[in-house]
This record gives sequence, structure tokens and C-alpha cells, in this order.
Amino acid sequence: MTEPLHDRHRAVLPDWLSLYYDEPLELTHGEGRHVWDAEGRRYLDFFGGILTTMTAHALPEVTKAVSEQAARIIHSSTLYLNRPMVELAERIAALSCIPDARVFFTTSGTEANDTALLLATAYRGSNQILAMRNSYHGRSFSTVSVTGNKSWSPTSQSPLQTAYVHGAVRSRGPFAHLGDAEFTAACVADLRDLLGHGRTPAALIAEPVQGVGGFTMPPDGLYAAFRAVLAEHGTLWISDEVQTGWGRTGDHFWGWQAHAENGPPDIVTFAKGIGNGMSVGGVIARAEIMNCIDTNSISTFGGSPVTMAAGLANLAYLLEHDLQGNARRVGGLLIERLRATAAQVDSVREVRGRGLMAGVELVRPGTDEASPERAAAVLEAAREDGLLIGKGGGHDTSVLRIAPPMTLTVAEAEEGAAVLDRALRTV
Ligand code: PMP
Repeated sequence: MTEPLHDRHRAVLPDWLSLYYDEPLELTHGEGRHVWDAEGRRYLDFFGGILTTMTAHALPEVTKAVSEQAARIIHSSTLYLNRPMVELAERIAALSCIPDARVFFTTSGTEANDTALLLATAYRGSNQILAMRNSYHGRSFSTVSVTGNKSWSPTSQSPLQTAYVHGAVRSRGPFAHLGDAEFTAACVADLRDLLGHGRTPAALIAEPVQGVGGFTMPPDGLYAAFRAVLAEHGTLWISDEVQTGWGRTGDHFWGWQAHAENGPPDIVTFAKGIGNGMSVGGVIARAEIMNCIDTNSISTFGGSPVTMAAGLANLAYLLEHDLQGNARRVGGLLIERLRATAAQVDSVREVRGRGLMAGVELVRPGTDEASPERAAAVLEAAREDGLLIGKGGGHDTSVLRIAPPMTLTVAEAEEGAAVLDRALRTV
């Protein structure tokens, strides 16, 4: 008999390639907001929306665009003109709000942030970077060096000199007890301290809503205040929109627009969902920053015609069907339902989020102590009940992360909320 797939996985893949669930799932196909496992069980997917499948599983428009392009030609994005790449760059540049924008395509968010750091450090002639505590920007040597979430940062041999700033986690940490205005003032003072004393950071990189960190957010106005201070020093602002871009946060197309008093960021990075499962990542920056390095092409597969075809079809679908509006409406309803459950369950410390990004932070009942055990148990219980969700958080993985495909219907939101209500009450 063939060995189970999980045993074969363990025998050849790294130990740190983490898998969810006591009995890991093999997903064999998907449709809309649903996926099926190898035993034929169907699940409502409340996490794939951020992981890969921003719009819907097996979206016919994307499948058709990919298969037609694959049948025509799949080639490198470098050396020859590539129509889908130019067309997608034009559309993204126009949507970016960045003046004289240039777009460079990569295959992942890590590579996009890597490139953003390359540009910022070259443009400013400094290898000092500021990043937010509890952040996640990738796993490569440079991006892991700006990842403040220590459970993901195995190396201290950083090629960058990084300092971490307070502010992205409102409800924990040394300033949590302060009101919004005092919290903002304390974080701005922290930032000023890191900019003084002869330090000349090239950029500050931040996620508008921290993803892996547990869907945490700064209070409104904090990043605008940061921008004003950074501008005094010529320090660039890099907005990592890998999780927050394309309308997921509901009220805005880009996460940075919630903090837009000082105009668009200097550099924006994106990835994950825009290819609806195909590997599309990228960097947007105004020409003077993008063109500050004098180099040949630096990605063989970034911008591949087949992934660009997916991006074009997905973006067209997203805009035509106002999925940002759907994220606002259906996401708002979902967060409301989760808050109603939370009010009756003493292990929920906080429900937070924007649009179709909802985080549920769990604690040991009657305490403020994070409860990764409870988060793991809710994940298992929800799976048993036909719902897939994610988890995240800082040192303790105690936040349930809910980020369904952006075509989620009201009925599906109600169905998923009911599963979570049962799981949170019984665990
Ligand atoms: N930035 C953010 C905000 C992310 O959430 C992630 C992935 N979790 C990355 C960067 C890295 O993206 P990728 O896994 O595509 O390299």
C-alpha cells in the first residue's frame, strides 16, 4: 500500500514547512468559495481569499485567460515585449494613485518587498530600515530582516540595520492603556527617537493592517503622523499591500488610503490574491525611485505572460463586480456577527478588522493571556463543521484569521459565522 501523503511530505520536505490541522488536509479542487478534500468533503473557505484565491476558486474568466495564454506562449518576461505584462502594468499604475508610476512584477510578496528594499536603500544610499513591531514581510534574507514578528525571524545576521517601531498593535504593548491621541503621541516620540542621533533610515515599511501578525491595526491618524515625521528626514514610506490591496479592506482600494493625508506612499508592494492563485507580485514606485538602480532585468518569471493573463482577468472581474463594495458590505456583516458571538463568549478578547479581513483574538477565560491552544482547537472544530479559517498573531498564535474570497455572499457569511459561533461556544 502507498504511504499516506503526510508521511511522504515529512520524509522529503523541511520540518518547518508548517501544515494546519492534526490530520493535514489535501485539497483536490475548488469552486467559488468552496474547496474539497481528497475524501470528497466540502469546506467553505474563509482563508484562501488572502492566501491565494482573492476572487473565487476556479473563476471561469481567469481559468479561460490562463489556458488560452498557456496554449499560445509561456515565456520569460524579460528580453522580449510581453503584451499582457504591459497591459497589467498600465492598469495597476493607473489605479495606484502614484504619479509617474512604474511597475515591476515579481513572483511573490517576498520578492516584491526584497525589490522595494533594494530600491529604497539604493535611492537613499543607506542600509538602515524602519519596520513595525509584529510585522511580516517575507522569508528571504532581506525581508526576514524587516519582519518584526519574531516567530518568523530565525536569523540575526541581517544585511540591513533595522529598528522596530511601536504602533501597529493598538491593544497590546506598553502604550495600550493610553487613549488614541496619547497612543499616537507616544509612538511618534518612539519614531522620532529612531530618526535622531545621526541615523538616516532609507525607508519605513509597514502593512496597513498586519496580516500574519493577527489583523492588527494602528489607530486612525497614526501613520499619517508618521508620514509627516518621515518627510522631515526624507525617509521613504513603503506600504506592503500584499494582504490589504485591491479593496479587501472594504472602505478603500489600497490599505494606505485609510492613512492618506500625505498622499500615496513612495513605494507600494503587492502579491498573493491579484493573480487569483497564480504567482503575481510586484512593486509600484514613481519613476525616479524605480529607475534609481542601473541594472538588467532581475526576475525570469515575474511578469510571465500566463500569470499576467490571470492578473488582467482577475482585476477586470474585481472592478466590474465591485468586489470592494462587496467586501465592505458582507465583511461588515460578518464582523457584526462575530462581535455578537464575542459578547457572549468570555474567551474572545477582541474582534477587529476591516472589510473581509476579520481577526478574533482568543485568551484564557477571565485573563488577558493569549490562548494559542484555544485558537488551534477552534480551527479543528471549524474544520469538523466544514469551515476553513486561518490563525496568526505575534509570539502566540492566538488570533483566528478570517479572509474569504471577495465574492463571498451574505448567505455564506451567515453560514460561516454560525459555524464559528458553535466552535467558539464549545471549545
Ligand atoms: N507581506 C505580507 C504582508 C504577507 O502577508 C506576506 C505573506 N504572508 C508576504 C509579504 C510574503 O509574501 P509571499 O509569501 O508571497 O512571499
